[in-house]
Amino acid sequence: MTRSFVPSELDTSSFAAIEPLFVALEGRAIRSVGELEKWLLDCSELAAVLSEVGAMRYIQMTCHTDGKGIEAAYLQWLEQIQPAWKVWGDKLDRKFLACGFRKELARERYFVFDRNTANDAELFREANVALQTEEARLDQQQAKISGAMTIYFDGQLRTIPQMQRFLEEPDRRLRQFAWEAIITRRGVHEAEFDELIDKQIAVRDQMAKNAGLGTYVEYAFRMYRRFDYTPADCFAFHEAIEKTCVPVLREAQEKRRQAMGLDKLRVWDQSVDALNRPALRPFATAEELAELATRILARVDKELAGEFAEMRRQKLLDLDSRPGKAPGGYQSTLDERRVPFIFMNAAGTHGDLQTILHEAGHAFHANAARNEPLLAYRSAPIEFCEVASMGMEMIAGPALAEAYGPAEHARALRQHYEGMLGLFPWIAMIDALQHWMYTHVGHSHAERNAFWMSLMKRFGGIVDFSGYEHATEIGWQRQRHLWGSPFYYIEYGIAQLGALQLWAASLKDSGAALAAYKRALALGGSKPLPELFAAAGLKFDFTVGTLGPLMELLQRKLRELPA
Ligand SMILES: [Zn+2]
Repeated sequence: MTRSFVPSELDTSSFAAIEPLFVALEGRAIRSVGELEKWLLDCSELAAVLSEVGAMRYIQMTCHTDGKGIEAAYLQWLEQIQPAWKVWGDKLDRKFLACGFRKELARERYFVFDRNTANDAELFREANVALQTEEARLDQQQAKISGAMTIYFDGQLRTIPQMQRFLEEPDRRLRQFAWEAIITRRGVHEAEFDELIDKQIAVRDQMAKNAGLGTYVEYAFRMYRRFDYTPADCFAFHEAIEKTCVPVLREAQEKRRQAMGLDKLRVWDQSVDALNRPALRPFATAEELAELATRILARVDKELAGEFAEMRRQKLLDLDSRPGKAPGGYQSTLDERRVPFIFMNAAGTHGDLQTILHEAGHAFHANAARNEPLLAYRSAPIEFCEVASMGMEMIAGPALAEAYGPAEHARALRQHYEGMLGLFPWIAMIDALQHWMYTHVGHSHAERNAFWMSLMKRFGGIVDFSGYEHATEIGWQRQRHLWGSPFYYIEYGIAQLGALQLWAASLKDSGAALAAYKRALALGGSKPLPELFAAAGLKFDFTVGTLGPLMELLQRKLRELPA
């Protein structure tokens, strides 16, 4: 995209060269609605240039963790450029909010932008800056303890994520030992984790009070710009999950118990293949993964498959796992060029195949909104971003026949569906716990654990926890979000609800469902959440009325599949 405000030769290596552009924007006189709009687009262009500089440095660093100077470049971005940009960004926001032509602009196209900008400014309190630093410091401590947890197991020192593969081992005793080793290791830090969250609850409660709000629940809803649903909607969602998802989960677990020939299903029996078959291995190399994903996507939609092929051609995929590469996977957008980038560490598993379809969904979202001039509208709220990605995973289900024979295909689908059944109750529990914690400030550890146990009764499946009562009571401590991203979790449930609806629609008429999907993706973030859902043909409703029929459909599909 060509620049109209930012000079093409702008030096982005330090903030000194960038700052005059902000000074010019802040000082510019705005004499009409048209001038205000032009000013917004100029701000947007500068933001896109800076965002891409940061994204490129981050991508470089994660692709080459050992590259000389690469980490330093990213740190310079993080410590110098980004903070300075934030301060200027806030000044520009305030200039916008104070502008006399703002209301006229906000009437139509700029409604969402105006609402977000005003919300963030209203929530801001000088007194909360120090509290946010304290909140982050406490989170940092929890992250440090969690990250350093290692276990000497099976002759080697291993991290907790590295322990997960033992839970997929056919040998049941080995699985049990591995699980026990994990909970014992976590249990060492029980008191510290309790104390850190206690402190964070107090800090967060104070932040809400400073902002003139009754509880941190209200504060969090404003902070995440949740304008379109309330705590009451979340409670209705929890109830819908309890009534319609938990029974289907129990049925699937019972089927697993029988297939495994067990007396009782224990917590370490949930990740292994019920018939002890070797894990699915749909590809070997990263090149094969890209090729396979292209063929799967071609079965879903020719146009989207074409976009994916173009990403390959432009080298916007880094998929293989190699020394000197950061762990994990993500999709990032280069905001100036307006192209997506996918990062992964593929190791040949079915999970990798699922991940690339997921990230491809995010990439299609970025492409679909690329002609939107305003940067803020080129991405959607997270509740809908994850519809694009989880929805793509769901609607690509039938096309997995490209990767597998019939028996393996059935296994892949069962894994996916069962994973979803397990996720909804967990989301409800984590969300319900947070609502309770922040409306019962000053509660004791025993009260908190007791509340968690009441959730286990509501949402737990048929898994037998006897002999591990205390570990079960503090099971919530394994969810990092509680410290790092408070209240941020229901989003996944809302998105999954959308993805399931999209899937149901695609089973009836795949062409129509896909057309609606693309239409909604193209809106980016320019419309409120319920309108994005509506454009995709999805209901923005969290009650039994919406979830119930979807769970019945999932149950029918699961019954059709072999164990
Ligand atoms: Zn995602």
